[in-house]
Amino acid sequence: MRVGIMGGTFDPIHLGHLLAAERAREEAGLDEVWFMPAGTPPHKPNAPKANADERLAMVKAAIAGNRRFRAEETEIRRGGTSYTIDTVRELKLRHPDCDFFYIIGADMVQYLPNWMRIDELAALITFIGLARPGYSADTRGLPPAIRASVVSVTMPQVDISSTTIRNMRASGQSIKYLVPDAVLAYIEENRLYES
Ligand code: ATP
Ligand code: MG
Repeated sequence: MRVGIMGGTFDPIHLGHLLAAERAREEAGLDEVWFMPAGTPPHKPNAPKANADERLAMVKAAIAGNRRFRAEETEIRRGGTSYTIDTVRELKLRHPDCDFFYIIGADMVQYLPNWMRIDELAALITFIGLARPGYSADTRGLPPAIRASVVSVTMPQVDISSTTIRNMRASGQSIKYLVPDAVLAYIEENRLYES
């Protein structure tokens, strides 16, 4: 089985994430996409605004009903900061029959050389890089060994970020149609991101 891992903070998950996952799934011929929220790093000024349980609940609400999308809880259960290489090694041990792909937005692609043990990681998986407004999807600046394991996928450009959504909520603006209805309901019920 070909599995795409979509890692992120998901604070909150939004339509850009879902569309990116669906484009990657179809273009790369993936059987499933597993959404993997990151653990909450301890004592960071830029820590997520919603806690781990809330971010996971929003991911689950967003993907409910899509049998090709799943929530992957490895990093959020481990808590704190995880290195992708450790997570991928664990996933491969647990699912030896799966081929893993790692889905990232264009804003992340340029930083790949800084990822922990990137050469080892690039040998284990293929990155799927998705175009994102304001960021170049150009991989030519990457070292050849990393570049060789990145495939670029286009998507209708969706200029939505979790940061924008949090700011809009804080200033009292509507975020309807930026997130799935079930996520909006969860955010309102739990009064997340209010100022
Ligand atoms: P924040 O503003 O808090 O950083 P974000 O919208 O960037 O939130 P993340 O949880 O940081 O969301 O991103 C998870 C993954 O989804 C990353 O690989 C990111 O590049 C990608 N991504 C997020 N938004 C988009 C988008 N609109 N189009 C394409 N990829 C996206
Ligand atoms: Mg981000």
